[in-house]
Amino acid sequence: MWLEVRRELERVVGSEYVSSDPEVTFLYHWDFVTAEEPGVCDIVVMPGSTREVQEVVRLANKWRIPVVPWVSGVNIGGLATPRRGGIVVDLRRMNRILEVNEDDMYAVVEGGTTWGDLKGHLERHHPDLRPGVPWAPAGAGVVPCYLCYGFTDLSFMAGTGADFLNGLEVVLPTGEVVRTGSCMCTSYWHSRAPLPDLTGLFVGWDGATGIVTKAGVKLWPNLPTEYLILLADTVRDGVEAFKRVARKCTGILDMCFVNYTWLMSLLGYHEKEEDPLDPEEAGVQDFYGLIAVAASSEREMEAKKEAIEEAAGTGVLADLEAVMELFPEEARPQGYALVNPPIHFYNCWNYSYGGGGEWVGCYLSSRHVASYYRIAVSVAKKYGRHAQMYGRVMSGGHHWIARVNISFNKDDPSDIEAARRCLMEIDEKVRQLPSVVRYKAPSWAKERNFSRASPDSLELIKRVRRLLDPNGVMNPGHGL
Ligand SMILES: Cc1cc2nc3c(=O)[nH]c(=O)nc-3n(C[C@H](O)[C@H](O)[C@H](O)COP(=O)(O)OP(=O)(O)OC[C@H]3O[C@@H](n4cnc5c(N)ncnc54)[C@H](O)[C@@H]3O)c2cc1C
Repeated sequence: MWLEVRRELERVVGSEYVSSDPEVTFLYHWDFVTAEEPGVCDIVVMPGSTREVQEVVRLANKWRIPVVPWVSGVNIGGLATPRRGGIVVDLRRMNRILEVNEDDMYAVVEGGTTWGDLKGHLERHHPDLRPGVPWAPAGAGVVPCYLCYGFTDLSFMAGTGADFLNGLEVVLPTGEVVRTGSCMCTSYWHSRAPLPDLTGLFVGWDGATGIVTKAGVKLWPNLPTEYLILLADTVRDGVEAFKRVARKCTGILDMCFVNYTWLMSLLGYHEKEEDPLDPEEAGVQDFYGLIAVAASSEREMEAKKEAIEEAAGTGVLADLEAVMELFPEEARPQGYALVNPPIHFYNCWNYSYGGGGEWVGCYLSSRHVASYYRIAVSVAKKYGRHAQMYGRVMSGGHHWIARVNISFNKDDPSDIEAARRCLMEIDEKVRQLPSVVRYKAPSWAKERNFSRASPDSLELIKRVRRLLDPNGVMNPGHGL
């Protein structure tokens, strides 16, 4: 059968864009994290247009084989791992920026556009506009990030990636092409209002309800931006200071923080077994907050900085240089990474420790961020590991993100297993906090997400999926 499928796919996209060679398909079988077992990619195909995506999906229906959308596969939840085999649709040929509307500040991008593509295009042709960018590698996808409720350096001001989507063009699992948002009935991609919001049928579903071939994404004025650092002794103190700032100050683009172990690894410091797990023992503070502020004049910037300082109340506001001086000269990075995303954040994972890293990341209430951290640290300590913490204030302070990374040695199966147990226990314990919901959850964690959902809610989700995908071909084993 696979030979025939391959021939038919070659007729659609051309033989140079189809492969079932093991050395090629290997790249798509797993995202190298402990969260998911490896899957199988039988054939990978790279379509170049919406019509070709349609044809591929129709073939998948004809043969009743799975079809998995893929851009770079680094979501760290195993969401693009082909769990039931089949065709991986690598969308990276579809990386064109089709339109930039300067008046309404949006871009229309294809489904395989990467952060490098979008940011590079804007810097060259529309330098007064910028997108919201995650800390992900430059080769990762814009559309999957936004579809998965990703968070960016504009998330305090503008919310999750899902809020950045004005409308979509989607190839449904049955092969029809639909549009959502204003682009459904006009030639503009300016908003989702005031139509029935069909965009939600494709947001948060891990590519299980269709393949997005075009998206209208919001852009913002590229104003001069400064970065303020808020230091606090503990995560609890820092969270309270951030809450005060979020309530009182405007013009903030982003507010996020890391704990001392994450900061050390950002600085290129290599974790060693003898390193103290406690910041007090290390003699350092534990909350390193970053506040990004935009203003169009120096006077406005100074006034905003003053207002933030006053609202913070506690904590020392310093600039990046001052923070660098807290650390030994040899440990200081060349050009501080946080100020220029997207970047390769390999240092998060202490490559000296074996290059492996994975996180338990959640959306939650501000009330539970400090407790989340306390619980994660106590579990990580039990396993003799550093808990690298990162948090972000979302949507003007309406909710938060908290996540803890655990490092491991990718070459040591027993270390991977210990890390997996540690991550699963952190996941289990932080869920005792009533507001916690995992994002980009691997399948085992997704089941836990829904364990408190009502049977009727679950049935509705399943019904919608069956309606859109009667043959069950689209990314099976993911979504719900
Ligand atoms: C070091 C590092 C740092 C990161 N930092 C951040 C961060 O700060 N914020 C953040 O949000 N993320 C972050 N990420 C996660 C991730 O890289 C981004 O969210 C990324 O943009 C997702 O793109 P991807 O190409 O990896 O998606 P993929 O893994 O290829 O896809 C993710 C999911 O979307 C589906 N999908 C892909 N394309 C489509 C499409 N066109 N239509 C429908 N479904 C589709 C896939 O099937 C899969 O379920 C980080 C990752 C790394 C490795």
